[in-house]
Amino acid sequence: MANDKPHILVLPFPAQGHINPALEFSKCLASHGLKVTIILTSRVSKSAQVPLNSSINIETISDGSEEEKEPESIEGFFKRFNAAVSQNLAKFIQERRETCPAKVLVYDSVIPWALDVAHQEGLLGASFFTQCLGVCAVYYHIHQGLIKYPYEDSDLLLPSMTPLEVNDLPYFSFIPDPNNTVVRLLADQFSNLDEADWIFINTFDKLENEVLNWMASQWPFRTVGPTFSLMYPGKKLTNERNHKINLFELNHEASMKWLASREIGSVVYVSFGSVASLNEEQTDELAQGLIMSNCYFLWVVRASEEHKLPPNFTSMTSEKGLVVNWCPQTEVLAHHAVACFMTHCGWNSTLEALSSGVPLIAMPQFVDQMTNSKLIEDVFEVGLRVKADENGLVRREEIEMCIKQVIQGEKGKKLKESAGKWKELAKEAADKGGSSATNVEDFVSKLLNL
Ligand code: UDP
Repeated sequence: MANDKPHILVLPFPAQGHINPALEFSKCLASHGLKVTIILTSRVSKSAQVPLNSSINIETISDGSEEEKEPESIEGFFKRFNAAVSQNLAKFIQERRETCPAKVLVYDSVIPWALDVAHQEGLLGASFFTQCLGVCAVYYHIHQGLIKYPYEDSDLLLPSMTPLEVNDLPYFSFIPDPNNTVVRLLADQFSNLDEADWIFINTFDKLENEVLNWMASQWPFRTVGPTFSLMYPGKKLTNERNHKINLFELNHEASMKWLASREIGSVVYVSFGSVASLNEEQTDELAQGLIMSNCYFLWVVRASEEHKLPPNFTSMTSEKGLVVNWCPQTEVLAHHAVACFMTHCGWNSTLEALSSGVPLIAMPQFVDQMTNSKLIEDVFEVGLRVKADENGLVRREEIEMCIKQVIQGEKGKKLKESAGKWKELAKEAADKGGSSATNVEDFVSKLLNL
């Protein structure tokens, strides 16, 4: 056999918010002495800037996107993706059976059919959840038919969860799909979970203790987050840590150089992640709100969104702000110049901010971001949620007020204090002996003894 280390395959769902935690988990497993191969799918692989000289292998399998014209519906997209990837995944495993056999497939929980492929090919399967446990609890109830989408207009009390209003529940209506493919995709994470050999989730015990106890009474969920701060045994954290898979062109130097010349706690960092897209009017309100706040700002506007900025915005605001297409977010959040993070509340962004002790201004757009923003404001108590007007727009005055409250107000001090507490607890979970690090070590030791 070419390599005696246990070989693990990792199959993320092809989106930035799914690839990032899978990659961090993989790097951690590799640092514990496992051989790890991340399998990207072809469409996403084309735009991915992958790390060189990494401790993990990165390979690509076809998702069918090269062969046909684009499907017209989201349903068609998933049909083609599921068929092509399940077939090519099986082939990938078979082709390495002699030279580099794999023992386990870690697969993204939103592609539960990957577990069937793993089992058919004689591998064990580990489901990897990239949302928080609170959101998983909501999806579980949708899966069981205990909550129906579109929701009825009444509040919900789920076991071990803070009471949720309709506006706090995951929102899907942005996709005009009568069968609601996305709702099914998310609810189906539970379809064959009973058969998974391990279940991992990117959160940490103390952050979601009560809901963890409840979910763990149904399935053996193991927390492994925040994955990006998991400790690496016997290895320097620096270089390897910075290796990411970016699906967008990174403005690393520009962002970090600009931050370096700012004072401590003077900058609002603004990003809506890799998918959310503000309309032109909302982009303008945000731009004007940033100007009115008179604060320094670093704003990530993806290249595809740039045309929505007000004319001459970047040149007009060059004294106060910097707009980049993509930045090294975890480094930005760890920078002492950053005072607060205006975010769409993607789960990775939320965890990264908590782990850096940065308070949040929550401006959720869809899916789990609604629930995350509720947790951010009322449960973790690390941020303010913006209020939209009757047309669903968050006006410039609201944005200005939230920034001022978080950066200058008494409320801001409390949020910062609370964020500092989570920073310590996140570190504790991910450091040696912590709950997440121990869950990783248990997994590794089981694999070494298989
Ligand atoms: N991110 C980044 N640079 C940016 C903006 C985002 O590296 O300029 C990363 C961020 O650190 C996070 C991921 O992209 O890990 C976004 O995931 P999240 O779950 O927050 O949101 P999504 O993109 O899935 O909506």
